[in-house]
Amino acid sequence: MTRYIFITGGVVSSLGKGLASAALGAVLQARGFKVRLRKLDPYLNVDPGTMNPYQHGEVYVTDDGAETDLDLGHYERFTGVAARQSDNITSGRIYQRIIAKERRGDYLGATVQVIPHVTDAIKEFVCADVDDQDFVLCEIGGTVGDIEGLPFFEAIRQLGNELGRDRSLFVHLTLLPFIPSAGELKTKPTQHSVKELRGIGIQPDILLCRCDREIPVIERRKIALFCNVRDDAVIPALDVESIYEVPLRYHLAGFDSQILQAFGMSGVPEPDLGTWEEITGRLSAPDGEVKIAVVGKYTGLKDAYKSLDEALVHGGIANKVSVDIEWIESETFEQDGNLHYLEGVNGILVPGGFGERGIEGKIAAARIARERRIPYFGICLGMQMAVIETARNMADLSGAGSTEFGECEDSVVGLMTEWEKEGKIEHRDAESDVGGTMRLGAYECVLSPTSKVSEIYNQDRISERHRHRYEVNLAYENLLAKSGVIFPGKSPDGFLPEILEVPDHPWFIGVQFHPELKSKPFDPHPLFASFIEAAVTQSRLV
Ligand code: GLN
Repeated sequence: MTRYIFITGGVVSSLGKGLASAALGAVLQARGFKVRLRKLDPYLNVDPGTMNPYQHGEVYVTDDGAETDLDLGHYERFTGVAARQSDNITSGRIYQRIIAKERRGDYLGATVQVIPHVTDAIKEFVCADVDDQDFVLCEIGGTVGDIEGLPFFEAIRQLGNELGRDRSLFVHLTLLPFIPSAGELKTKPTQHSVKELRGIGIQPDILLCRCDREIPVIERRKIALFCNVRDDAVIPALDVESIYEVPLRYHLAGFDSQILQAFGMSGVPEPDLGTWEEITGRLSAPDGEVKIAVVGKYTGLKDAYKSLDEALVHGGIANKVSVDIEWIESETFEQDGNLHYLEGVNGILVPGGFGERGIEGKIAAARIARERRIPYFGICLGMQMAVIETARNMADLSGAGSTEFGECEDSVVGLMTEWEKEGKIEHRDAESDVGGTMRLGAYECVLSPTSKVSEIYNQDRISERHRHRYEVNLAYENLLAKSGVIFPGKSPDGFLPEILEVPDHPWFIGVQFHPELKSKPFDPHPLFASFIEAAVTQSRLV
């Protein structure tokens, strides 16, 4: 029997609902349960793929090629369960389906309405593609009271009735602000938020209260009384040093026990949280530190590089060091005299990105890394930048560039117009739609056996996730090889160069895919573990 846990938020956004859902998933998993996590996003975009990272943070790509909300990254990092397209829905996608059905005549004769058509479509999504999971955790984006969220709240209210008390549960995440002048934690915003929720027919079973200090018993009782929950169902969610402490803290606070109790489940063994203890132990007592410069375009918002940020931390966990990340806006290196920002860094990483702004700065950063023998990791656009840099400065192609940024003399990176996906050829051209048309999701890559990457992966065939429209032009392969740049990873048909290496360098690797999406704290991605290891070696040289 699958049970559903609905997680809503109130008072303010950014309380970490995604993280809370992911950590709860991890604790339930540690109790031996099979979990699946889903996100319901009320905005009207069909998916977040067309949004600027400053609007929405990172776009998380799944194996099956969906461009999804970054919370799915948290879910996967905490549970190891690969997220799917069916785990993220938006109002846009729901309406797109309903309108297509209406045009086809599927509702002939009926007035198509939010209730029941939109709410039914939401309920269908929540319950679809579930097999033997014990728990499905469903997070509703936004906060209670948002106009666009109403159909989602109505749908989960209905589901609560349909599934019944023993199969559905509502968790509400709120904030308890500390007011210094009063010297008190304030419960009123939480009371209002729950009132709003009850106003639309949902009585929360458990309240998860974000706060920066312990909640005194008296406040806890007050919340319970005014919000109509039991005292024990008011769970403090205190600020923590590392997000990977959250599963441990939740368990200590009794969150998982309250969930089981609310479902009337008894005799469940205590969770085995050894992995999380090991991870937090390593994070709190590192043997050293390395400094990594991330040279990107959206460095003002860390959420824009969420998975990357975490994957670097995982690389640190693998090497028992802490990773100090310097986020540097790439345009910095387009002005003379700014190279000193890279002095003392033990590794340089150029992440994925789109558009022309800042690219010359990224190319300059790749050049410094290569010339000064600093470990360099180029991801997607970062690999393309490395190809342009090495073509210009090692292979004497001074006019090397990418057609993404306009015409150039030597387009060492060009628009991909066709490629193979599951035995079929995908076609694109410059006029294709922008939404959902990139080369997306998991693709296999064959590694040449003598390369550094095959040693790092310890495999000759890998699968990694992609999200790009441009690709390295194979026509330049021989010329680059003569100059000391090789492509030791290619698509199985040999047409797409997926990995770049400069063998005569301590660590200079570019990958056309996004390895950060598959890294987990309990299973750091081999490329990140190796990159940080190279940074540790570099730090001992200086
Ligand atoms: N803009 C580049 C492309 O579309 C790189 C994309 C990325 O870094 N994800 O190919």
